[in-house]
Amino acid sequence: MLVTDEIKAPPAIQARLRKLGLVRRDDLVLHLPLRYEDETRLTPIDDAPFGVPVQVKAEVLEVSVQFRPRRQLVARVADASGELVLRFVNFYGSQTRQLEKARDDGRKLRLFGEIREGFFGAEMVHPRYRPVAENEALPPSLTPVYPTTAGVSQNALRKLILPALGAADLGELLDANWCREHRLPAFGDAVHLLHAPPPGVSEESLQGRTHPAWRRIKFDEVLAQQLSLRRAYLARRQKGAPRLSASGELARQLRAALPFALTGAQARVSAEIAADMAQPYPMQRLLQGDVGSGKTIVAALAACQAIEAGYQAAFMAPTEILAEQHYLKLRAWLEPLGIQVAWLTGSLKKAAKRAMLLQAASSAQLIVGTHALIQDSVDFARLGLAIIDEQHRFGVAQRLELRKKGEKNAPPHQLMMSATPIPRTLAMSYYADLDVSVLDELPPGRRPIRTKLVSDVRRAEVIARVRSAVATGRQAYWVCPLIEESEKLQLQTALDTHAALCAELGELRVGLVHGRLKSDEKAAAMAAFAAGEIDVLVATTVIEVGVDVPNASLMVIEHAERFGLSQLHQLRGRVGRGAHDSVCVLLYQKPLSQAARARLKIIYENTDGFEIARQDLHLRGPGEFVGSRQSGVPLLRYADLELDIDLVELARAQAEYLLRHAPDVSGKHLKRWLGSREELLKA
Ligand code: ADP
Ligand code: MG
Repeated sequence: MLVTDEIKAPPAIQARLRKLGLVRRDDLVLHLPLRYEDETRLTPIDDAPFGVPVQVKAEVLEVSVQFRPRRQLVARVADASGELVLRFVNFYGSQTRQLEKARDDGRKLRLFGEIREGFFGAEMVHPRYRPVAENEALPPSLTPVYPTTAGVSQNALRKLILPALGAADLGELLDANWCREHRLPAFGDAVHLLHAPPPGVSEESLQGRTHPAWRRIKFDEVLAQQLSLRRAYLARRQKGAPRLSASGELARQLRAALPFALTGAQARVSAEIAADMAQPYPMQRLLQGDVGSGKTIVAALAACQAIEAGYQAAFMAPTEILAEQHYLKLRAWLEPLGIQVAWLTGSLKKAAKRAMLLQAASSAQLIVGTHALIQDSVDFARLGLAIIDEQHRFGVAQRLELRKKGEKNAPPHQLMMSATPIPRTLAMSYYADLDVSVLDELPPGRRPIRTKLVSDVRRAEVIARVRSAVATGRQAYWVCPLIEESEKLQLQTALDTHAALCAELGELRVGLVHGRLKSDEKAAAMAAFAAGEIDVLVATTVIEVGVDVPNASLMVIEHAERFGLSQLHQLRGRVGRGAHDSVCVLLYQKPLSQAARARLKIIYENTDGFEIARQDLHLRGPGEFVGSRQSGVPLLRYADLELDIDLVELARAQAEYLLRHAPDVSGKHLKRWLGSREELLKA
C-alpha cells in the first residue's frame, strides 16, 4: 500500500520516527504525551520545594567553566527572592556563549528543572532553559512530554504534532448518545485535550491517566484491538475446512481402554471440540488448562475424530523431550486401536526421516513431532487437524505454517493448548481471535504438592530428603540453577551440579539431562528415568514443560529466586502426578531482591495456575506478561488490561455490534488506530 499521507520530514528523521511507530501524519495524532510539565506558572527561587519540577525566571549573574571535580559549566542566577546555581556536566561551547550573552545583555532565563540542595546552596543540574523577553507570556496549558527516541527532540515532535492535529480528521465515529451514556467524551475533544490540556484541567488526572479523555483513548485502543482480532477470526471462518464428522466410535474405544475416567471438564471440553470439528469451517480453539489437568487425552480424542473421518492429525510440541514423550504415550493409546502413529523431529537420522516423511505423505494417521513438522519437506497426505501443545512457546508464524499444511484451500482445524493460563480479562482481550475452552478441574486423587522454601545453607538437609524419598521407592528431579546470560555457563552448572550430587548421593543412580545433549541421549535419559532406572534426574529447564513421570514425587529447584513464576509453576507441576505425597523444595540464596521475594511468596502460597498467573500479571504488568505473543497483536500503548477491565468488556461488546451493524465504521476506526499496521494483524 502506498502511504500518501506520510510525515513530511527529512529521511533521517522519518527513519527515527518510524521507530516510534510514526509513519503517517495521522499517527502523530495518537502519539500521546507520557506526562506533562507545568510551565504555566513561575515559582520564586526561595519558595521552590526541593526535588519537584519547577519553573523559575532569573537573571544570569555569573558564568564560568570549572575543572574540579570535573569539567563543568556553572552559572549563578537570581530572581527577586534568591539565588540558584546551574550546573552542566555535559555542555557545548555554544551554551557557554549563550549564557554569557544573557549575562551581558541582562536577558532573563526561564528555567525548568528540579532544585536540590547542593554544596553551595540551591542548585539545578541540567535544567531546561531558554532566554526570554521580559514580557513574554507563559504558555496557557501544560506542556506535553512525548515518548521519543534519540535524535528527535521534544520540540521537534511538538512542531510536527500540532499541525497534524489541525489537519487530521478527528470526526466522531461512534454514536454520540452511546458515548455519553458510557461517559466517553468525543474522540476529537479527547485528543485535543490530551495534547494541550487547557488551564484548570487536573494535572493529577492527566498524569494518572484517569481523566475521561484518557478513558476515551483507552477505550478506542482496545476497541481497535478487538475489532481487528475479531475480524481476523471471522475471516478465517469464511474459509472452508473439512467437516470431520464421525460416529465417535474410535474415541469411545480409546476412552474405554483408558485406566481412568475423564473428568467432567475433560468431557465438556471434548464435546466443544468435537462440535467445532464437525463444522465446515476451521476450528480455532485454545484449550487452557493448568499443569496436570489432562490436556493430552483431550487432544488424543480430537485426533480420533479426525482419523475416523478419514483425515490425518498432526501434534506439534515445542521440545524434543516433550514430543517424544507424547509420541510414546499416544502410540501406547492409539496403536492398539489400529492407528498408525509416526514421529518426526529434526534429529532423526536421514534414513529414518525419509521413512517418516513417506509415512506422513501416505499412510500415517497421527504424526507427532517438534517444529520439524512445519518444514517445507513435510507433506501431509490429508491433514485435517493440527494440534499445538504449549502454544505460547511457538511464534505466530510457526502456527501459521502448520495451518498451511492442510489440503488446498482447506486449512486444517486447529487446536492450541496452553498450560500458562491467563486471567479472564487477558484471555478476552488477547484471544479475541480464538474460541477458548478451559479445563478447570484436575483429575481426582491428586495429592496436593507441598512447597517448601529452604535457604541453601540447608542444602545438606535437602540431600537427606532426596535420599529418604528414594528409599521409599520414589524418584526426584533436581533442577539446576538458571543462568540466562550464558548457555555455556548453564551447561557447566548442570555438569557441576550433577558431579556434586553423584558424589553426595554415591549409592543412588543419578542421571543428567540438559539442552546440549544429543536428542537420542536426552531420550535415553528420560526413558531411563520414566522406567525407574534412574533415582535422581539432574536437569535444566528442558524438563519444564509437559514431562510426565508419575513416580517422581520430589522436585528440588536450586536458586529458585532466579526463575519466573510461570516457570516455577511449570517445574513444580512435574511432580504431584501420581498418587504419592509430593514435595517441591525451592532452594534460594540470600539476599533476596524484593521482586524475588514476592515471586517466592506467591508460588509458596498458591497452587492454582490461574491465581498464580493473576498475581504474576499484577507483579509485572500485562506488557511483559503477554510479551511472548510477539507480533500479531500490537501491545496496547495506553490501556492497562487489569485496571481497565470495564473498558475491555465494553469494547468487546461494541466490536461485535459494529462488525455486525456498521462495518464501515469498523473499517474507519481500524484505519485510524492501526493504519498501515493492520496488515500485520491478518495472521
Ligand atoms: P497436562 O494438562 O499438563 O498436559 P497431561 O495430559 O500430561 O496434563 O496429564 C497429566 C497426567 O494425568 C497424565 O499422567 C495423564 O495420563 C493423567 N490423566 C489425565 N486425565 C486423567 C483423568 N481424567 N483421571 C486420571 N488421570 C488422568
Ligand atoms: Mg501437556
